[in-house]
Amino acid sequence: MGGVTRSWRWLVARVMRVLLRWTRLCCGVRGRGHVAHRLRLLWRYWRLLLKSLYYNSLCNSDTVLDAVFEPIYWLVDNLTRWFGVVFVCLVVALTSSVVLIVYACVLPLILETYAPHWVLWHLCYGHWNLLMVTFHYYKATSTSPGHPPQERRDVPTVTMCKKCIIPKPARTHHCSICNRCILKMDHHCPWLNNCVGHFNHRHFFCFCLYMTMGCVYCSISSLDMFIDAYNAVESSYQTPAPPYTFSERLHHKSIIYLWVLTSSVALALGGLTLWHSVMTLRGETSVERHINRKEAKRLQQLGKVFRNPYYFGRVNNFKILFGVEKRSHWVTRVLLPSSHPPLGDGLIWDAPRGLTPWPSDPPPPSWTHTSVAP
Ligand SMILES: [Zn+2]
Ligand SMILES: [Zn+2]
Repeated sequence: MGGVTRSWRWLVARVMRVLLRWTRLCCGVRGRGHVAHRLRLLWRYWRLLLKSLYYNSLCNSDTVLDAVFEPIYWLVDNLTRWFGVVFVCLVVALTSSVVLIVYACVLPLILETYAPHWVLWHLCYGHWNLLMVTFHYYKATSTSPGHPPQERRDVPTVTMCKKCIIPKPARTHHCSICNRCILKMDHHCPWLNNCVGHFNHRHFFCFCLYMTMGCVYCSISSLDMFIDAYNAVESSYQTPAPPYTFSERLHHKSIIYLWVLTSSVALALGGLTLWHSVMTLRGETSVERHINRKEAKRLQQLGKVFRNPYYFGRVNNFKILFGVEKRSHWVTRVLLPSSHPPLGDGLIWDAPRGLTPWPSDPPPPSWTHTSVAP
């Protein structure tokens, strides 16, 4: 009991002593200057402690900003990943609805009213286009874009990926949605729910091209029917309303839906296909477009000219994208469904063998400095 009392008294004495010392520190003879000095020391100590606990030689303001925005990135990436499934279902549903309307409304009219050679052309072209769209969409969504090898040590690298902690070969970039490094990354496409990279770039481009062609074909083929259907729907608001049956009204609305959807997609996707064609002509991906523009500006200020190391000539760039090695490949590999892999392994980007510059290609610009974009 006595021990308990003693320890209680001892505790009070300690607290009083600490309080006395603190009061002396604050109001003592040494004044405010001393307090400020102590606080500065305390602040330095805590800063050193924090730095020693979280020390990283790669840490800079960008890393800190990245860390602050990490929850927002996480949310956006996960939403995009989740919406990717919805977008793929949307593409399949809209394409199926268009095909269904063409079979139910447009094709019977073509079979009834067109000359035999036009009927044959519509049947052949329509089905070939549908086959190409379906094939390339399936391949673009199901083919892996390609990732740098984890084990191989002989891969020529340009930089290190801070997220994967692996060496990055040229043209490789990290996709935050896939959370992996992608060989010759172009972009992450939510409509495919997949990254567009070295191994599926051709399928993505062909899908855009054939889908645009298909939409242009549908909107041109159904233009007369659309005008008739539009006039019929407009006239239904008059009094007395024309006696259209339910199936006729459904037919009119289906044709209007078909024409509006296909012509809008033709415009939007046509623009995208044109943009990707221009980038292919220049030997760039969507990611490299921004990097190369920055690099060209930087070198221009130094009085130097930027040269894209992945430009092999306009036609050769398309040959590399389509995997065309001889003339017959333009038919067998571009105009027909083909699962051939692209030229090269996506790790080394030397000029492919057997591809000579096209005669009409402009000569490479005279430059004094060659810059390799990562
Ligand atoms: Zn990575
Ligand atoms: Zn991705």
